[in-house]
Amino acid sequence: MSRLSIVEGDITCLQVDAIVNAANSSLLGGGGVDGAIHRAAGPGLLAECSRLGGCPTGEARLTGGYSLPARHVIHTVGPVYKDGQSCEPELLRSCYRESLRLASEAGLETVAFPCISTGVYGYPKSAACREAITTVTEWLSAHDLPRSIIFCCYGSDDAELYRMQLTSFA
Ligand code: ADP
Repeated sequence: MSRLSIVEGDITCLQVDAIVNAANSSLLGGGGVDGAIHRAAGPGLLAECSRLGGCPTGEARLTGGYSLPARHVIHTVGPVYKDGQSCEPELLRSCYRESLRLASEAGLETVAFPCISTGVYGYPKSAACREAITTVTEWLSAHDLPRSIIFCCYGSDDAELYRMQLTSFA
């Protein structure tokens, strides 16, 4: 649990080994956190992303961080929430796991996640938070890397939700 922390604010400002982007499957940018990351990283990020040929839902891809304070960006594509019965939980867990697997294989020590799928993709925040915490905790119990993981919450409501769920999880 000491390897997990919650930060409230803009993920593009974090000086970590990698920030995770809640991307869409084209990897060519979009709104929300994706737009913010591309704006802050500059055009080199879009150029690298456009060479990747997209990314299926539940998978992840690693790029450079360009003008971001973060050294890398891990792009993962969360599920669009439909009814909760369309593999959304499995796909959301896969986003966290695959991002962590890439980070670990690249030897990255510090990684920050936004609340994947909980914006435009409509995943209910409390359920998404539970999947995020469960998956990340399981990963940490079995792996040395990343050494430290940040949940970056964009707003005090999300941060409070993560604090409450982490406390009840401990
Ligand atoms: P998705 O399409 O996966 O739902 P969004 O970008 O719409 O992606 O939202 C995902 C989460 O990212 C939401 O919780 C939203 O509040 C948050 N978010 C938006 N901008 C930022 C930012 N600059 N830093 C961190 N989180 C952000």
